Amino acid sequence: MSISKELNERCQGNCEICSSAPAVNEYIVSPKKGTSINDNVALCAGCNAALDASNYNALKGFAEGSIWNPVAPLQALSYRIIQGAAGEEEAVSAASSAGLDEEVIQWGASALIQAPVHKDAFGNVLENGDNVVLTQALDVKGTNFTASKGTVVKKIKLVSDNHEHIEGKINEQSIVILTKYVKKS
Ligand SMILES: [Zn+2]
Repeated sequence: MSISKELNERCQGNCEICSSAPAVNEYIVSPKKGTSINDNVALCAGCNAALDASNYNALKGFAEGSIWNPVAPLQALSYRIIQGAAGEEEAVSAASSAGLDEEVIQWGASALIQAPVHKDAFGNVLENGDNVVLTQALDVKGTNFTASKGTVVKKIKLVSDNHEHIEGKINEQSIVILTKYVKKS
């Protein structure tokens, strides 16, 4: 993609992130659709490649400067880079120094993947130590018993690498249960 005349005027031909290399690409700051230059940032080849690879660390130093630019899409993208590289706290602090609007901050933060959350069959968020009730009868693997619907499982443990699994004890036996078969009690 090349740069529109309008965007080229705004960026003066230079990358808006690092401001040291010629702008060659019009980068749409998601989830905006790129329908106007107010959705877009002009990038050089290097910054564009780093962003495509989510290599926020490589761009953080530039973003700490470009977040001060009054152009909203550039502020949002700079915020996103700082949060991606250094975490939310540092991004919020940079944003408040630069006086970003809350809306721009939300835009910047929107694309960053959030850690998956454990939810029960009804969408309630589950936490370690919660008590749950089985919403259907479950065969307990490795035993010959079935835990009936309505069985209470106390003090569950979330399985950290799988947000669809929790651990709990039924009949003194620790088992893994699918979150979609439980209800927080
Ligand atoms: Zn650049």
